[in-house]
Amino acid sequence: MYDVLVIGAGSAGYVAASVLARQKLNVAVVEKGKFGGTCVNSGCVPSIFLFDSSFMLSRWQEIGDYKGLDVKVDFSNSTFSKRDDVVSYLSSAGRSLIENAGGHVYKGSGRIIDKGVAETDEGEKICFKKLIVASGSVPKTPPGVMSEDEAVNLEYVPKDMIVVGGGYAGVEIAQIFSRLGSSVTLITRSRIMKGFSEKAREYLLQSLEFDGVQVKEFHEVKRMSEREVYTENGTFKGEVVVSATGRTPLIPDGLKSYSINVKENGIIVRPTMMTDDPSVFAIGDVVDKPNKTAHSAMHEAIVASYNLIGRKLEVKYNCIPQVVYTDPQIGVVGSASHAVKFAEFPFNAVTRATIAGMRDGEVRIGFNEKGETVFGEVIGKNAEELINIITLAVRHKITAFELATTVFVHPSLSEGISNAAKTMFDLDIDRFK
Ligand SMILES: Cc1cc2nc3c(=O)[nH]c(=O)nc-3n(C[C@H](O)[C@H](O)[C@H](O)COP(=O)(O)OP(=O)(O)OC[C@H]3O[C@@H](n4cnc5c(N)ncnc54)[C@H](O)[C@@H]3O)c2cc1C
Repeated sequence: MYDVLVIGAGSAGYVAASVLARQKLNVAVVEKGKFGGTCVNSGCVPSIFLFDSSFMLSRWQEIGDYKGLDVKVDFSNSTFSKRDDVVSYLSSAGRSLIENAGGHVYKGSGRIIDKGVAETDEGEKICFKKLIVASGSVPKTPPGVMSEDEAVNLEYVPKDMIVVGGGYAGVEIAQIFSRLGSSVTLITRSRIMKGFSEKAREYLLQSLEFDGVQVKEFHEVKRMSEREVYTENGTFKGEVVVSATGRTPLIPDGLKSYSINVKENGIIVRPTMMTDDPSVFAIGDVVDKPNKTAHSAMHEAIVASYNLIGRKLEVKYNCIPQVVYTDPQIGVVGSASHAVKFAEFPFNAVTRATIAGMRDGEVRIGFNEKGETVFGEVIGKNAEELINIITLAVRHKITAFELATTVFVHPSLSEGISNAAKTMFDLDIDRFK
């Protein structure tokens, strides 16, 4: 009898399993696909590997011109095999993490056959006291059309590509393949990056247009096939059609043995990640929640594990950042609607950004009536790192004055953050450079 069964060894599952096994619980994990799940095998890792490659192609050229270097970088198909090496290294690391911690791994698809009993499709029975559902999500892709997960694993650069979906996955894929050499059309039923600020969208639209991506906003797609997309405004044809139109939670069979609440967007949980049944927790993309990212999945795994062993911890989604890996990157944390005052600082007034030739973009921070940080947005290169500083400020309610009087290294891009706070007190000397 296992103390805990974890269904799924993606970002959520492998973290929960290894944390609990290190606490000396008897843990079983069942995984039907590749260890590391979507993030490692068909999401963040392959996509950001290709993002880096495509980014470097243009960045080296740009920096060469800016710094007077004679730089020539060519794309080579070996980037795809290098990506695959990184993916398989990280996938096997995910499995080792569980096993080295003492967890037991079952290969195959797990289904619940009764309360406390699961079975794999290989016919192995697993008895357990508590259950963690970490089975993730799958793309909503029409038959015959390439999904976002498949696109980031392409082994070649298509001559032309039609991407449907203006969310982060669609926008990232469109820009990556455009920079690698495809002629890309991006089709979306409303605006790209709905829910992001107008500023962020403007920067991104400009950059996509500069890269040659044909952006077709407000195009309602009626039907798509392997090579064609039919919209109310006309038909678009390409060597490859990629659907990046959202994902559906993957609910393991037999879960109705437990009285838990499942909605279209996933399993309903409390902030402790416990479901309506105290012996069942759910974490990651399978949960109905605002932030479906790998880092939120990994955090939820820690929260669920803590609560499962009797400690107390809750997830606060307003403290979980989100980053879009485009050029410029867009990082966001917190809620702009909780802010009464905003401080902004453009990168073209940050010394390090000028030295590095990274002058496009800006920092925007929101404070509540007590002056506490409640929101942050960074648009520009390295937003993936800078947003973490604002996340810390949001999490610990750091005030504008505290941010403004914390000493950041000069010259560094992070000065964009302290300088933004300094504008609240007229202390931002950099603005006048
Ligand atoms: C193209 C793309 C880019 C992305 N980029 C980023 C990014 O940059 N940053 C970020 O934070 N997030 C990113 N994401 C999102 C991120 O990948 C997911 O949020 C994350 O992987 C969710 O983790 P999870 O563990 O909940 O689910 P998954 O990683 O999907 O893992 C679920 C696992 O459960 C297994 N499973 C399912 N059902 C069963 C069953 N019945 N029995 C046994 N095993 C089962 C599956 O095989 C899978 O391995 C991206 C996603 C995509 C598609």
